[in-house]
Amino acid sequence: MRPTFLEVNLDQLKINLDNIRAHVAPAKVLVVLKANAYGHGVDGVAPFIAPFADYIGVALVEEAVHIRKMGISTPILVMGGTLPEQLPDFFEYDLTLAASSPDLLTAAEQLASSTQKTLKIHLKIDTGMERIGVREYEAESFIAQSLSCSHLDIEGIFTHFANSETSHNLLSASREVKASLQLERFEEVLSIYEKRSEPTPRIRHTANSGATLLLPQSHYEMVRPGVLFYGVYPGRDIERTIQVKPALTWKSKVSYSKITQPGRGVSYGSLWQAESEVRIATVPCGYADGYFRRMTNQARVSINGKTYPQVGRICMDQFMVNVGDDDVKVGDEVILLGDGIAAEDFADWTGTNEYEVMTNISARVPRVFVGRVQ
Ligand SMILES: *Cc1c(COP(=O)(O)O)cnc(C)c1O
Repeated sequence: MRPTFLEVNLDQLKINLDNIRAHVAPAKVLVVLKANAYGHGVDGVAPFIAPFADYIGVALVEEAVHIRKMGISTPILVMGGTLPEQLPDFFEYDLTLAASSPDLLTAAEQLASSTQKTLKIHLKIDTGMERIGVREYEAESFIAQSLSCSHLDIEGIFTHFANSETSHNLLSASREVKASLQLERFEEVLSIYEKRSEPTPRIRHTANSGATLLLPQSHYEMVRPGVLFYGVYPGRDIERTIQVKPALTWKSKVSYSKITQPGRGVSYGSLWQAESEVRIATVPCGYADGYFRRMTNQARVSINGKTYPQVGRICMDQFMVNVGDDDVKVGDEVILLGDGIAAEDFADWTGTNEYEVMTNISARVPRVFVGRVQ
């Protein structure tokens, strides 16, 4: 196998899920497995975690079909936008549709009545993302329509927060729509059922990781933690009220070790050169693996328990590390992420968020799953 790989600790993911569950009980937990399980490798994570999840959430119907083809029978909600021509897959693979428009609901009802099959639906309400979904001020007719769809099982209703990850946004007035305001709008929508003397759908859900942590009144019957399940907090200033830890360790091995002379520029563009003789270790991993090129001269790695600076332009397939006077040899283990180097550090070095760091690790990096819970 390639010396550069991602080690994914499945036990840790189970611990994270257990701790989230304990925090939100009796609410159910939808485990978000979109984007290759936030880069962790859905082929290993899905079969392991599915028996412990109440629901699985993905963004795309293709992701849901992929999971079904592994033989997993846990309910799967396709949370993103769906095109009408993708509807047949929902019937064939028993998927739950996020009905985000009256047209999509009509198309689903028509297909369900012509195939004589029921389809599970979660109504998607847009309370402030302006992305997909029916706005709270248009929801009355949407709900009336859904109640007349005799071939659909309207199992759920949900919305998604635009700003749930900082307590600041919950409390203070700012340009951003506050999660608490979105929650009020969602409540307005739920009151439409009461006015009509109809029960609300059985599963009301709104909480992503931020709201799972900061907004208990948003939990309803189910929460949808993504990044938190993977052991990463969605914001820096959130109190650590749920104990989770990252499950990822990105490992490699030194492929070359040489002493470089002062004045000899390292890598493309010769952006860095030593001031005195130092040892330079080469790592067989680059930006094609998701080790961002823009971390050049900023990243740090851990070798033999000590951290060292990355130096010179990060290449497509390799990068270099200044190990100073230390005796670092070919074959020594290098830790790129984990062992004191966090997704938050990558995010700081690159000006992005932890989500992009994890989902950017490319398919060229093998995923190795360790620590299966029996
Ligand atoms: C991705 C996603 C989530 C999870 O978000 P986190 O911030 O990772 O917890 C929840 N709900 C929906 C609709 C999503 O698309």
